[in-house]
Amino acid sequence: MQLHRRHIPASKVCVHCSADEHIEHALLFCPYAKAVWSDVKAYFNLHLCRKGFKICKTWIFEFLASCHDLSVTVLAVTCWHIWDARNKLREENITQHPTSLALKVKAYVDMIVQHLYITSTNHRREPSTTTYWVPPPAGKVMINVDATIFTLDKSMGAGVVMREHSVSCIVCYGIGVPDVILPELAEAIAIQRGLQFALSEGIQEVLLGSDCLTVV
Ligand SMILES: [Zn+2]
Repeated sequence: MQLHRRHIPASKVCVHCSADEHIEHALLFCPYAKAVWSDVKAYFNLHLCRKGFKICKTWIFEFLASCHDLSVTVLAVTCWHIWDARNKLREENITQHPTSLALKVKAYVDMIVQHLYITSTNHRREPSTTTYWVPPPAGKVMINVDATIFTLDKSMGAGVVMREHSVSCIVCYGIGVPDVILPELAEAIAIQRGLQFALSEGIQEVLLGSDCLTVV
């Protein structure tokens, strides 16, 4: 695709299904992308209107002209995650199950919607300063966790970050656990480790941040 147009060597074969890889295949029509979209569409009641699809650019313009802001956000976030999953598999051999990726998409969109609502009352805030992370209230500690599955190793890895109201980081560490292949179980283990650490440090009031809605 873009790499080929710039004469940078790259495979033209889809990393998920070995079909010819065009942008519409990677983001919309690949069985992997379809599986992600299936979950996302059901959750947000979204219709991609792919019938009669001919040219990607035309389809995007028609889609954008006919939908509201939330659908645009869902489209952008989902495409980004599908593309990121494609790159992680191609370059780092990291597999993400479509269901797990869809969960991340849902969590990201929910956070964006929530954040836009929060910042709508603060007109002086510049868009460039927008982040998805909001400090916890004074006296509480925010625990953010994110887990991933390493399919080949049949193991999981996770990152845990704890920050307080001043945004100073209390602790930041990674964990690895063998014999875990379910994304939700990996996320649950990451959350458990975060809470155990908080308890061992005598921290009682915590907020938990995870993109795995089924676990939270
Ligand atoms: Zn494919």
